[in-house]
Amino acid sequence: MFKFYLSGHDFEYEVQNALRVFDLNADIEISYGSFEGRGLSLVSCLEEGEIIRARAQLYKDRELLSEACFKADDIILEKYGDKKLKKTLVIKTIHHVLKSYYKVEPDYGILTGVRVVKILIIAKRENKSGEEINRILRDTYEVKEEKIKLLWDILSIEEKYIDEKINKSNYNLYIDIPFCPSKCIYCSFTSYVNCPQKKINSYLDTLSFEIEKTIELAKKKKLNLNTIYVGGGTPSVLNEDQINKLFEPIIKHYDLSQVREITFEAGRPDTLNKEKLLCLKRNKVDRISINPQTMNDDTLRAIGRKHLSSEIVDAYYMAREAGFTTINMDIILGLPGEDESDVRRTMEIIGGLNPENITVHTLAYKKLSELTRESSEFYKDYDLIKKMHAAIDELCQGKGYKPYYMYRQKNIKGNSENIGYTKDGRECIYNMVMTEELETILGCGLGASSKIITGENKHETIRNFKSLEEYEMRIDEIINKKQSLLGG
Ligand code: SF4
Repeated sequence: MFKFYLSGHDFEYEVQNALRVFDLNADIEISYGSFEGRGLSLVSCLEEGEIIRARAQLYKDRELLSEACFKADDIILEKYGDKKLKKTLVIKTIHHVLKSYYKVEPDYGILTGVRVVKILIIAKRENKSGEEINRILRDTYEVKEEKIKLLWDILSIEEKYIDEKINKSNYNLYIDIPFCPSKCIYCSFTSYVNCPQKKINSYLDTLSFEIEKTIELAKKKKLNLNTIYVGGGTPSVLNEDQINKLFEPIIKHYDLSQVREITFEAGRPDTLNKEKLLCLKRNKVDRISINPQTMNDDTLRAIGRKHLSSEIVDAYYMAREAGFTTINMDIILGLPGEDESDVRRTMEIIGGLNPENITVHTLAYKKLSELTRESSEFYKDYDLIKKMHAAIDELCQGKGYKPYYMYRQKNIKGNSENIGYTKDGRECIYNMVMTEELETILGCGLGASSKIITGENKHETIRNFKSLEEYEMRIDEIINKKQSLLGG
């Protein structure tokens, strides 16, 4: 248990995140009272005199273990603002004392946010030079050189899609199908397992209504449809009639062959057959995702999948035969019981299949999932995930894949990241514009989020209901919210 004593600030959320970088399980108590000094105590002060400075001291039973102090002049930010400066100072001092306590140098330094490449995008918009941006990343945020290089590599691909004028007038349609054939133990998404057809059809009625109304609002606002992404859940649990029904309201308004990219997640091989794949092709789906997560059958069983790795290979070839020229495959690093050799083997098999995209996730511990954390010792996860990422990167780059988008999550094993790799020119546009919040996303379906761009680096969010009953009963409320933000 850590007891934090705060004075001069009340950045409780940030303080807790700073600790989570090192220890996902640590219990924390926050006090604004006087220092008692029992057990592990971290004293964090912010002083706002002529110079703004922050100080942190770590004690064990009143014995000072380490301390750190930074002042405003010591840091530069991509976007200056008093509150941001103060928070950064506080986090940086806490990070320093915890670093010496845990004896770990986290790759992303003090950063805990989801969108790291966005720091570069914002700094560039503010005309900061490459050297200044590197100084922000290295000296202020303490990001390691190899990660700074990764961020620039990703930005060099994303830059092709950053065009303020186009970005402002585009929107992307996200559609959620919240049904799955079985539950994965690490899953925290809203997904209904083995749902009766009657319920699925009733959901599709409401969903079609929402899609149609959403498109009408987007058209009134003169937004252009850029991409469509059907995710979930496992959208490929739908049968052909249901897939056709899903695309009907879109076809009413658009020629699907003119939409720049249509992705359909076909995550589980046990939901795929030739007819379904051909039906997706007829609806102009041009990118599908077949997600092994691992090619180790024991792990597949342990995580709750009801298929073998050989079925993934069969599904992949079936999709190629049906004419899919862009296939993504997801894998997860850090699955229970797996080590570096399991990940290498998985990657060698997938690399041999040669999909256009490979998305490498790192296991994240979610509150609502079945999976519990096996290790509270950060350095063990940290070393393992680092080795796994290095192996993946070597294998991917050796086969001509480049990293093209990345994001981080809370409670991610080894405080790591998720990286999308792509073959030249085959990147998923939706993933980039969504991750960097470049374009409006209009989400339809259970639990879907809409992010409506309202200005430079500003957006409004609408979150749909997360229970089937509420979603169906209160669909008018969702449409009204969209209407009030989009106008019309
Ligand atoms: S396939 Fe995806 S949505 Fe479905 S249970 Fe597994 S992780 Fe959750």
